[in-house]
Amino acid sequence: MSPTPKIRENHCLVQANCLAVPAIAEAWTQVEDLDALHSCLDLVRRRQWPLLPMGSGSNLVLADRIPGLVMHMALSGRQVEERPHDCVRVRVAAGENWHELVSWCVERGYYGIENLALIPGTAGAAPMQNIGAYGVELEECFHSLEAVEIATGETCHFSRAECGFRYRYSRFKDELANRFVITKICLELSRQPAPRADYPSLASCMQAQDLAQTPENVFAAVCQVRRDRIPDPAAIPNVGSFFQNPILDAAPAQAVLARYPQLAHWVLDDGRVKFAAAALIEAQGWKGRLRKGVGVHERHALVLVNPGHESGAAVLAFAREIQQSVQQAYGIDLQIEPRCYPD
Ligand code: FAD
Ligand code: NAP
Repeated sequence: MSPTPKIRENHCLVQANCLAVPAIAEAWTQVEDLDALHSCLDLVRRRQWPLLPMGSGSNLVLADRIPGLVMHMALSGRQVEERPHDCVRVRVAAGENWHELVSWCVERGYYGIENLALIPGTAGAAPMQNIGAYGVELEECFHSLEAVEIATGETCHFSRAECGFRYRYSRFKDELANRFVITKICLELSRQPAPRADYPSLASCMQAQDLAQTPENVFAAVCQVRRDRIPDPAAIPNVGSFFQNPILDAAPAQAVLARYPQLAHWVLDDGRVKFAAAALIEAQGWKGRLRKGVGVHERHALVLVNPGHESGAAVLAFAREIQQSVQQAYGIDLQIEPRCYPD
């Protein structure tokens, strides 16, 4: 029999989410080991509660009241397995801090995730949207994950293919949403350096300092570029990019570009075209606009900020205005990137 979880009722989450939304959880707990996790799942099943596993709250827009249980993931631990051909598998518990993991790997010469430095959040949340930055996505060095099914308590394994990764997407975002708690991820890294420094802002940072292309320098440069450009949620509440970069099929993209040839865009390998959402928003005059405690960051048009600690509904109402103005101007739908909970 698992121990009874320590539950706090009507727990305020304002400090637990990077957008500083003052949401109240009907019940809240923290899990530090698998026994505690299984007791929580027993409780959730008995009470028929909805369950929100939560890491650092850096990709969540919460409603005022969160029904059921919010479970803060604090599982810790890392294991390394040497593999043939200079390969290393690193198994990481879900509650480990992502950036500390990246830094630890680079220090030990386990390479592959250095471009993903300083992304806030936990290891367990990283597969949710296949985190990506500076030209690299998690899936490129992802091996598998372990998860517990909420309805049954059964431990399941998902290979990289079974996660269904795409650009800022995995199956856990929709068809598998609310079904599993991710407990561990396994990364496949290499002892052979293969630095990736071609992303424009990263390349210019390294060129400006005449840095050699090593994984350690890529890690340092990514940290520098991010600190210069991306607002720290501890100083200005935000969840990073609020909208995904829209990807259009070739024909509609050409129609947009015929009217607005100056729009920043990239033709993908499959012929579709990715537009820079930040440029669309900035062109409509939103950058730096602040209204009733919610706004768009003054240096980054993709980042909505919530210095007034307003509700999730207020942030989403502001976001909808942006979506409407971009839709009216370009006929392009901007999709919200963070998870809105409850949906
Ligand atoms: P949370 O926000 O706590 O949760 C996000 C979702 O994952 C929720 O649905 C939650 O239920 C679910 N979840 C969390 N843990 C688990 C688990 N163990 N099992 C099951 N479900 C779980 N993202 C990028 O891709 N690239 C970036 O460069 C980037 N930069 C950012 C910069 C800033 C300043 C901020 C604030 C955010 C940025 N993000 C970026 C978004 C965010 O950091 C990532 O999505 C991160 O992986 C979220 O981790 P988290 O622990 O905070 O997840
Ligand atoms: P940036 O360098 O100003 O570039 C703006 C946008 O242009 C980015 O969204 C990026 O797409 C796209 N882009 C730039 N060069 C590209 C290229 N060569 N090919 C294809 N697309 C290109 O971006 P930034 O805002 O400072 O962010 C830097 C990196 O960190 C980006 O990769 C971004 O995704 C990531 N980031 C993500 C979040 C988040 O919450 N998701 C928050 C902050 C930063 P991509 O986004 O596809 O790279």
